[in-house]
Amino acid sequence: MCEKNCNLSCSECAVRNCYRRDRKYPAFCLTERFKDAAEITRDLYMSDTVDGQLARAAAEIEGEYYGRLTRLEETIRFAKKLGVKKLGIASCIGLLDEASLYAKIVRTAGIETQTVICKVGAIDKCDIGLSDELKVCPGCNESCCNPALQAQILNDWGSDLNVMVGLCVGHDAIFTRHSKAPATTFIVKDRVLGHNPAAAIYTSKFYYKRLLDEKTFPEPKSKN
Ligand code: SF4
Repeated sequence: MCEKNCNLSCSECAVRNCYRRDRKYPAFCLTERFKDAAEITRDLYMSDTVDGQLARAAAEIEGEYYGRLTRLEETIRFAKKLGVKKLGIASCIGLLDEASLYAKIVRTAGIETQTVICKVGAIDKCDIGLSDELKVCPGCNESCCNPALQAQILNDWGSDLNVMVGLCVGHDAIFTRHSKAPATTFIVKDRVLGHNPAAAIYTSKFYYKRLLDEKTFPEPKSKN
């Protein structure tokens, strides 16, 4: 067994024995190293807590519709299985048309919706300390995304489940931190790849081979 700070982890594992348990765990296996913690999480998923309800609903959706439903359909089935009455939508301004259609579909399924756009609150980027030159359109009012306010508005409305539609990298993290209701994602934003970030991985052996060149990711000029 390797040390606790061993650098090898699941991404370097070739056996993945944690899935079927029909092989041998590797020396660095996290399942082996975190046996006690795994017991605690099993109890959590068995319990009548929100985590337990979410865990069982998610696993049931996987089992009932594996490979047959789109993510859009899965999120709605998931919501219905949880008994969600009010589904909050935190949308990017760039995907508001998609969010509108999504809301219509969710309402068709009999669930109430409320959509909050990322620019809600209309706070100019300069007012949070950004320099004007970093705006997409310098010299203009350019409101920053406000995921904490998106979450607060949906919290006040009393959403049972929140769904993110295209929130930016990082803004999604803030939204998740502030959302009282469990939050899941319908669309992950990727402005270059048509909101299909996995395409970068699929093409990384040839067209996007720069991804495996360390010069592609220099240290930032300044850190927050
Ligand atoms: S938990 Fe263990 S068996 Fe599973 S992928 Fe990680 S290292 Fe491999």
